[in-house]
This record gives sequence, structure tokens and C-alpha cells, in this order.
Amino acid sequence: MEFEEMFLRRELLMGIFEAGFEKPSPIQEEAIPIALTKRDVLARAKNGTGKTAAFVIPSLQQIDVKKPKIQALLLVPTRELALQTSQVCKALGKHLGTQVMVTTGGTTLKDDIMRLGENIHVLVGTPGRILDLAGKGVADLSECPVFVMDEADKLLSPEFAPVMEQLLSFLPKERQVMLFSATFPLIVKDFKDKHMKSPHEINL
Ligand code: AMP
Repeated sequence: MEFEEMFLRRELLMGIFEAGFEKPSPIQEEAIPIALTKRDVLARAKNGTGKTAAFVIPSLQQIDVKKPKIQALLLVPTRELALQTSQVCKALGKHLGTQVMVTTGGTTLKDDIMRLGENIHVLVGTPGRILDLAGKGVADLSECPVFVMDEADKLLSPEFAPVMEQLLSFLPKERQVMLFSATFPLIVKDFKDKHMKSPHEINL
């Protein structure tokens, strides 16, 4: 399947082509059409497979830029990955007018609070900082229908797992979960059983 056949918005297609993506990678070909139906997706994917765009494209497609609310939360385990992921969101969403914010530990909370006063559609970051902002009532996730976990095996490590559980309580019950992970330890399987609704599983 081609990107043109995925019923994507024209502005999004422009961003995709300008980023130099001509054809979808296998994981994109499988994940994007399913994710666009709002079904949960659980994918086994390593770095270098194009997995970032596999969740960024359906996330961006679903955003209503006129609505001043966070509509996609993209969680990643490290600051570096958060920056990379937000770059992909900005590049692919260039013509959509989506506002993307990245937040990780290590920057001042004050700056984040100011930015969140603006209109943010996509929030990318690490779990601790996002929980902090949600808990303070600064990041409103109550109408955020798209929840992505990249490198979920790391996000569900003992260090982060309790934070993840708490974070979920700030999201609406009706939400789409997209989970990407290189490995599937028991903790990821438990998360799937507890928090995902008959996800489409991708094993490439
Ligand atoms: P990722 O696995 O998301 O880290 O992506 C690995 C690399 O592949 C990145 O440099 C992307 O820019 C690139 N990439 C992702 N999807 C495509 C595509 N459909 N066509 C060409 N390059 C791509």
C-alpha cells in the first residue's frame, strides 16, 4: 500500500513526502491503516524500522488543530528519544499546524507550565515529568484520545511502571493505545491484558 492510499490528509501527505518518505516501511504499511480505525495496536519493532512514523502519522491524522487540547500523548523512556520523536512530529506535521511540545526531566518546570498555557496538540516526553505536569493540573489529558508508548519494555521497567499506572488515570477511558516494544517481557504482556482492548498485534 502507498501513503496516497491511506486516506491521509493532504497536508500530512505533504509533510511525509517532504521528509523524503516515498513508500511506507513494512511496519508503517501494517500499523497506519489499522491505527486510523482507532483500534489499539501492539507492535514488536526495533529501531530503524520506521516505527516512529508508524505511530506519529496516525496520531497527527486524528488531531483537530482548532481544538486547543492535548490530543496525543507520546511517551518515551529517554530525553534523547523524546527530542527525536518530537522532531518527527514537527517534520511530518509541518503543514497541518499542529503544535508539538516536548518535555523531559532536566528542563525547568516553569518553562513547561508557560508552554502548556499555549495551544498544544501533541505532548511528547518521559513519564515522570508528564505525570508531574498532569498531577499539578497543568497538562490537561482529560480529552486526549491517543496514547502512545514507544520502547514500552523500558517504560514498564520497575523504575517507571508505577508512574505509568498513575499517568493512565489522567487519560480518558475511551482512548486508543499504541504500544511499540522491541521485546515482550511479562510486564508488557500484563499491561496489554490490563489496559488494552483486543489490540491488533504486529510481529515483523
Ligand atoms: P525509526 O525506526 O522510526 O527510528 O526510523 C529509522 C529511520 O528511517 C529514520 O531516519 C526515518 O527518517 C527513516 N524512515 C522512516 N520511515 C521511512 C520511509 N517510509 N521511507 C524512508 N525513510 C523512512
